Amino acid sequence: MKWKKRKLKNIVPFLKSALSEVAVIGGGPAGLRVAERTASAGLETVVLEKRAVVGKPVECAGIVSPRILSITGTESLIAEPEGAVVHSPDGKKLEFEAKNDQAVIIDRAQFDKELAEKAIKAGAEIKLGTAVKKLEKTGSAGRKVHISYDGRKKILNPKVVIGADGPGSLVRRSEDFPSPDEVLPAVQAVVAAKEENVHIHLGKDVAPGFFLWEVPYRSGKLIGLASNDGRTYQHLMDFLRSKGLENKVIGFLSGTIPLGNLLESVKDDLMLVGDSACHVKPMSGGGLYFGIKAADICAEVLVDALEEDDTSEENLKEYHERWQEEIGKNIRKGMRTRNVFKQLTDKDLDSLIEVLQKEKAKRVIEEKGDIDHPSRLVKPLLKVSPELLKFTGPVIKSLF
Ligand SMILES: Cc1cc2nc3c(=O)[nH]c(=O)nc-3n(C[C@H](O)[C@H](O)[C@H](O)COP(=O)(O)OP(=O)(O)OC[C@H]3O[C@@H](n4cnc5c(N)ncnc54)[C@H](O)[C@@H]3O)c2cc1C
Repeated sequence: MKWKKRKLKNIVPFLKSALSEVAVIGGGPAGLRVAERTASAGLETVVLEKRAVVGKPVECAGIVSPRILSITGTESLIAEPEGAVVHSPDGKKLEFEAKNDQAVIIDRAQFDKELAEKAIKAGAEIKLGTAVKKLEKTGSAGRKVHISYDGRKKILNPKVVIGADGPGSLVRRSEDFPSPDEVLPAVQAVVAAKEENVHIHLGKDVAPGFFLWEVPYRSGKLIGLASNDGRTYQHLMDFLRSKGLENKVIGFLSGTIPLGNLLESVKDDLMLVGDSACHVKPMSGGGLYFGIKAADICAEVLVDALEEDDTSEENLKEYHERWQEEIGKNIRKGMRTRNVFKQLTDKDLDSLIEVLQKEKAKRVIEEKGDIDHPSRLVKPLLKVSPELLKFTGPVIKSLF
């Protein structure tokens, strides 16, 4: 009897997922948001997440625009920095006040947990500790999703698969989607040292090809960077040592940032969303805003497609076209700017900061700065600092 009960307990949870119409692979912000939306629309939705706990370990600095707070209704806000300081390679500082709450800091673990709770409340099932090992095309519609759970193997056969499995996406790779243009390694340390502001450090010695950030985090701060020279961890250690902080590190984490404008994101019965589709801002590496925006479009198109009983690539293409329209433009501009940014020497960066230090330029940044739409700054900045063209002509031109 006992044996029978245990067996039943093990089988019943998968009965529901086995019947799911939508299988979301990956329980990060993008996947959880899709799941909340599809479940709210009455679709049987299961989220397959290989980690044991949603949102942990954290691979994020938690810097977002306040838009994320209003779109998601999250209560994970932990800091509202009073300003930001950009440090040039030769030590110049561009300091500005955050006049319009341009960036706030959220607790990423709590953010993901809240999204998971909302998805569950909407009716989605979240299977933790469940890794997707393989996708297999079937003769008829859909795919077989091979999962491994608690040492066991099982095959699900949902109507539609959502690949929300992050930067290294198995779904993207196994379905022959294009690869990201770049995948940057990133590392971050949690440091026991108080910080009020956001600091950005530029330069080949600090973070070649990207930047280093310092961000307030509860009673301490996060110091992290991405770089493109294969020495990301060494750069972080060098910085920590240079600031005398190496003994104040509470923990490290690492992750990757996928960059590029993916030209395909749907196939028959399958959609990619979030980092797996490179929904990331190329100049900052921020992926939460684009990921959530794309997730909403993804769910909307999917709900309609299932209602029409047509989940062909042709019908799901609307999702690709809509996210390309809403965020793809921004990603394309960002990639062009990034490609020029990578060519800038430390001297160019010093000169750029010098120009932006001037009062008029600073005021424009303070009043019009928007971390989700950095290119909106360009025209007003050029108006007050036409000399920017002299230093950064290619960067500026790339934004139009
Ligand atoms: C160091 C660092 C700092 C960052 N800081 C910021 C920031 O300040 N602001 C910002 O907006 N963005 C930031 N980002 C980017 C942001 O973290 C990502 O854009 C965001 O997490 C993407 O969400 P996602 O749901 O697409 O993917 P993820 O959050 O990566 O979630 C994917 C999920 O899929 C699961 N998964 C993967 N493979 C499988 C499988 N085979 N089977 C089952 N589950 C699987 C993973 O375990 C994971 O939980 C940062 C990234 C890094 C690396």
